[in-house]
Amino acid sequence: AFEGLADRLQGTIKKITGKGKVTEADVKEMTREVRLALLEADVNYKVVKDLIKRIKERAVGQEVMESLTPGQQVIKVVKEELTELMGGEQSKIAVANKPPTVIMMVGLQGAGKTTTTGKLANHLRKKFNRNPLLVAADVYRPAAIDQLETLGEQLEMPVYSKGTDANPVDIANEAIAKAKEEHHDYVLIDTAGRLHIDEDLMGELTQIKEDTSPDEIFLVVDSMTGQDAVTVADSFDDQLDISGVVLTKLDGDTRGGAALSIRAVTGKPIKFAGMGEKLDQLEAFHPDRMASRILGMGDVFSLIEKAETEVDEKKAKEMQSKMRSMSFTFEDFLEQMEQVKSMGPLDELIDMMPGANKMKGMKNLQVDDKQLTHIEAIIQSMTKTERVDPSVINASRKKRIAKGSGTSVAQVNRLLKQFEEMKKMMKQMTNQKKGKKGGMNLP
Ligand code: GDP
Ligand code: MG
Repeated sequence: AFEGLADRLQGTIKKITGKGKVTEADVKEMTREVRLALLEADVNYKVVKDLIKRIKERAVGQEVMESLTPGQQVIKVVKEELTELMGGEQSKIAVANKPPTVIMMVGLQGAGKTTTTGKLANHLRKKFNRNPLLVAADVYRPAAIDQLETLGEQLEMPVYSKGTDANPVDIANEAIAKAKEEHHDYVLIDTAGRLHIDEDLMGELTQIKEDTSPDEIFLVVDSMTGQDAVTVADSFDDQLDISGVVLTKLDGDTRGGAALSIRAVTGKPIKFAGMGEKLDQLEAFHPDRMASRILGMGDVFSLIEKAETEVDEKKAKEMQSKMRSMSFTFEDFLEQMEQVKSMGPLDELIDMMPGANKMKGMKNLQVDDKQLTHIEAIIQSMTKTERVDPSVINASRKKRIAKGSGTSVAQVNRLLKQFEEMKKMMKQMTNQKKGKKGGMNLP
């Protein structure tokens, strides 16, 4: 699911992520493309309209976060809004104060109720160590009872059934009584569906609901049915006040619009997603993960995290002010080198830095990764006093340092000279550009 939507949104996002400055026109263009992508994915028109409005407002009023570029901040807004749209926090499954917890599965024929009943039983046992009783309350199609019984056999779990003549309400009540006796902590009632919503069906479901007071009513909807899924969800919710939705067949090539609209239209959370026909193919629905998946932002977000952890903004500032006050020592130098090294190949990093071409031209400052290792070794061979005040390093100290680091006195000399030059240059640079920060400049 979501491939088309993901493709389009990711294209749009790529365009804006790298931007160091985002104008109102940029935001406009991006929201227009996001809007088209969502509509094309069959997301409800009104849902799209509201979402775009919120994204626009937030993208424009966005506070400047130093660790992210403006483009990345806009993407962050889109992701947060998509997550919110799908329900924000992942919702939980009910646990009754007094067992058993009763869950009623409802939905149209073919939506996946029976399959999902089996999957859910499996999920409850595997993840929560529960012991559910399955209940075959779809008496209209003999095959439906067989189907659930087969699933029960596969799972080695009991199924309560009574043949096609019994009344579904009685079946449900008896099953709950049996569950109490036999200490089942969950009762999963598989109910009948119809091709379309009709009064008979709703009447029966309402009666089961009134008699059994279920802790959860899960509406099972086929995500392949697009906008119809939203309409169906809306009317089931009107009549039964459902507690959650299970979206099935998200493994298919559905455009995904239903997933993105159902929560907004019904206000009811999506609790699970069916990802295939097999009994272990049910996933708890995590809105934030789904949003990341749709936006394909695994990469962007890990990049942002990387930037945040590896170039600790505060530390960098501290260093700068130390350099300015000339209190920058070899200890600081070493620390900074560790940071630089952890970020990747030096050449690439230098290319990314503003004004890098000029710096590279300065012969004395040119270093490669191998030289870095030598430099590190030399600094590590210095005493603390030497690192803080290199002026104490006389000839005999130089000899000792060279020996300790496996380098030569000439190399130690070169580093000391480089260090002085660097301090000088840093001072010049920091004086030149008095802290103009990048940010989001929207008119
Ligand atoms: P019910 O009439 O609502 O009980 O629907 P069923 O449980 O009988 O499912 C109808 C069909 O959909 C069956 O062929 C299932 O195997 C299939 N199905 C159910 N859930 C999924 C799912 O998440 N993915 C896929 N691919 N097929 C599913
Ligand atoms: Mg069924």
